Amino acid sequence: MAIAIIGGGLSGTLTAIHLLRSARGSKIIYLIEQDRYRMNRGIAYSSQLAFQPLNVPASAMSLFPEQPLDFYDWLTTQQHRYEKHLNTPVSKNDFIPRFIFGDYLKSRLEEAEQLAAEDVKLVRIYEEALAVTKQGNSFRVKFKEHKTIVAAKVVLASGNFPPADLPIPNKAFYKSSNYVASPWSAKGLANLRPESPLLLIGSSLTMVDLVGSLKAEGHTGKIYVVSRHGLLPQAFDVHTPLYHHLRLPDLSASLTVIDLFRFIRMEVKKAEAQGYSWRSVLDAMRVHIPAIWQSFSLSEKKRFLRHVRPYWETHRHRMPASSAAMLQELQEQGRLELIAGTIVDMKTEGEMALITIKRRKQTIAQSIKVSRVINCTGPESDYSKIKLPLVQQLFTDGLIKPDALKLGLVTAEDGTLVSESGLPVEGFYMIGPARKAILYESTALREIRQQAKDLAHWLLQENKLCRTIHLSPSDEALQL
Ligand SMILES: Cc1cc2nc3c(=O)[nH]c(=O)nc-3n(C[C@H](O)[C@H](O)[C@H](O)COP(=O)(O)OP(=O)(O)OC[C@H]3O[C@@H](n4cnc5c(N)ncnc54)[C@H](O)[C@@H]3O)c2cc1C
Repeated sequence: MAIAIIGGGLSGTLTAIHLLRSARGSKIIYLIEQDRYRMNRGIAYSSQLAFQPLNVPASAMSLFPEQPLDFYDWLTTQQHRYEKHLNTPVSKNDFIPRFIFGDYLKSRLEEAEQLAAEDVKLVRIYEEALAVTKQGNSFRVKFKEHKTIVAAKVVLASGNFPPADLPIPNKAFYKSSNYVASPWSAKGLANLRPESPLLLIGSSLTMVDLVGSLKAEGHTGKIYVVSRHGLLPQAFDVHTPLYHHLRLPDLSASLTVIDLFRFIRMEVKKAEAQGYSWRSVLDAMRVHIPAIWQSFSLSEKKRFLRHVRPYWETHRHRMPASSAAMLQELQEQGRLELIAGTIVDMKTEGEMALITIKRRKQTIAQSIKVSRVINCTGPESDYSKIKLPLVQQLFTDGLIKPDALKLGLVTAEDGTLVSESGLPVEGFYMIGPARKAILYESTALREIRQQAKDLAHWLLQENKLCRTIHLSPSDEALQL
């Protein structure tokens, strides 16, 4: 039996690791990655930026939930390779550069490959998969150069797409050399004069990476950061104790956003009285997020996205305390200005970009001039806007369906993709950020490592017809 995994980032590689570890009998696992350097790293762990810390400490970055210190243990044996990049001795609380995590992922794959059963083979394909078609009980994956492969099951692990351009009147600006559409490549900071002023759109963790990289490379110019709410990620506290007393509200009845908000406030109050913090409560809630998300009606989900999302994201996705201190220092020195507002328009003026911004709660727009604008607004999750050949073909053939809120793709509870007509496409699975549509939290390692383990289990079930696929209740359109 052959299994094809499209996407060689964290999600695809970890699925391959579990398959290599557990598969018996004759199996071929195809791991398909279009970008050679991203193989076993994906976008997050192939970063070549000068500043790219993981946003959680080493003790929380194991690939395997049942061996929580696996990454830290691996680091301690590899420390000599990374003298310039690690504290000696490395601590469980250190925030390690992301490329090192990529090395860890790659080495665990190579190990699993060596230890796999004799008939279980991993085949790496370095090319973009252009189409997946279903014929009877098998799939065909097509490429430009490589011959078509036939697989009994296919996993879509295509990950994060670059951010969408903002809807401004002057779309021609996006073709100018002042604009950087994808924030993850070090090219975005190349050939920049140290004193050049810069605008970063979005104030999330990617913005923090770019500010840290600019600082590390000796940039001295002004950095403007604009986001609608002007909120920065909260700082990580490595001493946050685990909170074991969380009692969730009844999720069988439809939950409202107000109910959730009241619940969190009360839990935080109770927790603080016992010496915990809001971080302990949020961390304890994380495992329940899919159930909470699925108990919201569509209108409550919309309410959550409109009113709560920015606060949820900045509290849930935190930055190392040292990054928070760096931003504060730059703000105090006047080198970094955080603006809560919206971009009205952008145009080129000579060598510069002229940006019109309307600050929050102000009526008059203001203009600033910068050398470069970098879009850090977060990955595009609306699949209907993705122009890649594979995604377009899957739409045309009706094999995928975006959720009503355009957070990703509709899947059944086990990750089986759901077709345009609302039926599960047996043998065709999704893993990673696109499962946000159903689970809400589906981007960080902690969620992906569990998905990969569970998915490998399903992929190795030969008798798939005996399995009942539960469609998730989360997307209204699925309640046929
Ligand atoms: C910058 C950044 C930093 C992060 N830092 C952390 C962190 O510190 N801790 C944490 O827990 N989480 C972090 N995350 C979140 C999380 O780890 C990532 O979302 C995760 O790596 C997603 O992995 P993925 O494999 O699903 O996607 P990706 O990393 O996007 O990988 C998908 C891969 O699929 C390939 N691909 C796509 N389509 C095709 C095709 N048709 N054919 C062939 N190949 C294809 C792409 O080239 C890509 O390499 C970070 C995310 C980002 C973006």
